[in-house]
Amino acid sequence: MTETFDIAIVGAGITGCAIARQLARYDLSICVVEAANDIALGASKANGGLVHAGYDPAPGTVKAQVNARGCELYGTWAQELGFLFCRTGSMVLGFSDQDRAQLEQLQGNGLANGVPELAIIGAERIHELEPRASAQATCALWCPSTGYVDPFEVAIAAMENAVANGVTFVRSAPVETIEVAPGAGDRSGDGTARFTLVTPAGDVRCRYLINAAGNGAADISHMAGAEEFQMVWRQGNIVVLDKEPRALMPLYPVPTPVSKGVIVTGTVHGNTVITATAAVREAGDTQTYAGDVDALLSGARKLVPDLDTRRVVRAFAGGRPVIKGTNDFFIGQSAVVPGLFQAAGIQSPGVASAPAIAERMEQVLREAGVVLCQRGDWNPVRRAPDDFDRAPLARKEELIESDPTWGQIVCRCETVPEAEIVAAIRRRPGAVSVEGVKRRCRAGMGRCQSGFCQSRVVRILARELGCDPSEVPLEDDGSWLVEGPLKGVR
Ligand SMILES: Cc1cc2nc3c(=O)[nH]c(=O)nc-3n(C[C@H](O)[C@H](O)[C@H](O)COP(=O)(O)OP(=O)(O)OC[C@H]3O[C@@H](n4cnc5c(N)ncnc54)[C@H](O)[C@@H]3O)c2cc1C
Repeated sequence: MTETFDIAIVGAGITGCAIARQLARYDLSICVVEAANDIALGASKANGGLVHAGYDPAPGTVKAQVNARGCELYGTWAQELGFLFCRTGSMVLGFSDQDRAQLEQLQGNGLANGVPELAIIGAERIHELEPRASAQATCALWCPSTGYVDPFEVAIAAMENAVANGVTFVRSAPVETIEVAPGAGDRSGDGTARFTLVTPAGDVRCRYLINAAGNGAADISHMAGAEEFQMVWRQGNIVVLDKEPRALMPLYPVPTPVSKGVIVTGTVHGNTVITATAAVREAGDTQTYAGDVDALLSGARKLVPDLDTRRVVRAFAGGRPVIKGTNDFFIGQSAVVPGLFQAAGIQSPGVASAPAIAERMEQVLREAGVVLCQRGDWNPVRRAPDDFDRAPLARKEELIESDPTWGQIVCRCETVPEAEIVAAIRRRPGAVSVEGVKRRCRAGMGRCQSGFCQSRVVRILARELGCDPSEVPLEDDGSWLVEGPLKGVR
């Protein structure tokens, strides 16, 4: 089946979802085409979730502009889209005079990039702000605007809001070829579709094409006959520790030339995350490496000496989508194929920058002559689903009263009842895999890492999706968990 849209966005990572949400306010038909079977299965699911403030990127770069602005926009986005966001502030810890000089340089960058209220502070203030910070730290760059989010919650929330405002989400649709009609992107405004995206799920035709394909961005650009570039998979390992009574403020070391170094941070759910190593590895490599994990644990102990690194519940890895030969984002209209818009090379800090990348893409479209007329019925608000664990007692009772399955706890580590899992599957777009459920409501995210609840979640998914348990994937299509009946019993 072929469908025609004004705009097609390739990639449902945090970049594509944010752009879809931003553009959904206009009178345009929009489609997001995603290779995987769910939202945020690329770099957007495997990162530290830090909303970096923007003192790190070199002034004048695109990254610098969208990072600081993105961090600023997070407050409004969190309020409108109902996702968790903690603006805790952060410190870059210094241990020597040499470090202090680097902190001053970062502060200078931050001032140039428009980051508010940066200050160099001494040991006493450091320990007032974060008592667990190393006593060896003699100075720090204090940055009140830093925060953190669950990155996939942001992407899911943005996409849910986009879909509620009329955007079409097509999953399991890897773009395999792109046909470009002559005269692509001219401003005749005759509504003719110029791009045809060929996917196994059917063709998608569109007038304008936005490339937000993360590590697949070079392929999309190549398929459309636009800029030729190469992606570098800058891999990073991350470890997650069990919940703490009080979430740690994000603590950074002074950065290295290629990365922000090993950072220790709390999360919106109270865990501790140690993030991230940086090494160029083969594309698609999501293995964790013992050497990387050691580097994370020792780097973290330098910042927080009393960190109990035996409390690791999970280690994982992702690849930053870096364009070879540049350290910057590529956001703009293709100089080769008008009508194609690139949001490529969104390496770190793509999470922090996402709302501003979306805002900038809107501006780029406007400048390219795309007609953007605000819809009268656009609703910026997405109501967050009920989170049983965080709900006050009265709300818990109300939910159980309305439906007893709110009282049937399926994931014991994170206190997720059956009704919350069902809601995660029934949302638009809903979960179709065990990991999709986990990203939406945390079933399986806790210290037993789904040892208890996985089979129960499979059963609920099969029932809700009307399929056999053997057809329920762990993650993307084909990652089946159940081989068949055991001793004739399902
Ligand atoms: C270890 C690590 C730690 C990080 N920590 C942070 C952090 O703390 N803060 C921060 O701000 N940033 C961080 N980042 C960076 C951040 O994760 C990325 O910048 C961001 O997720 C990029 O999002 P994206 O949507 O551009 O790409 P992706 O999330 O990779 O999404 C691209 C999507 O395009 C789809 N796609 C690709 N090719 C095709 C095709 N042919 N057809 C259809 N779909 C296609 C993919 O399936 C994918 O879903 C980190 C990254 C890593 C790896």
